Amino acid sequence: MSKWYVHKDWDSKLGTPCEVSDYMQRAIDSKGPSDKNIVMPEDFVKHCEEKKIIWSGHKNLAIVDLAYNLHDRAKAGGKTIRKIIQAEDLKFLLAKGDDYVKAYYLHFILDYLDHSTNRQLIQMGDSIARCIDRYKKNKVADVPEMSQHLTCVMDFLKSHSQEVKKDLDL
Ligand SMILES: [Zn+2]
Repeated sequence: MSKWYVHKDWDSKLGTPCEVSDYMQRAIDSKGPSDKNIVMPEDFVKHCEEKKIIWSGHKNLAIVDLAYNLHDRAKAGGKTIRKIIQAEDLKFLLAKGDDYVKAYYLHFILDYLDHSTNRQLIQMGDSIARCIDRYKKNKVADVPEMSQHLTCVMDFLKSHSQEVKKDLDL
């Protein structure tokens, strides 16, 4: 995963307000509602504890019962339960504001580029743009209301490919 100051720096390049950047950092990097070290924002804890997920016959499971760590569930591929939760997380963030959703995508695209598999592919000549397109194809829950924000972040990073490479040391 990318270093926190790299995330902070790119948040500010994208124009993410400071308070949104701080909020998202705590929501993403906290290990869960009981983490005393990185304290999860209060309303995000509530979302994780109270939002019910319907999954394989179980009706009353909360997000914390299934996957309490946002950092893990945001990276899920395939049609897993974590992807269903990813859609709920994004809907919650969209209700708070567009910047929250953009900061979410920005964080996880940077982490995706920084992942060992992609680092290797990029070193072998793959482009940042193709790699970002793969993130969309493999990792993103299909939430139509979010697509303009995803496109905005993807285009922003593609148009700053050289800078991304430098900052992530790719
Ligand atoms: Zn991360």
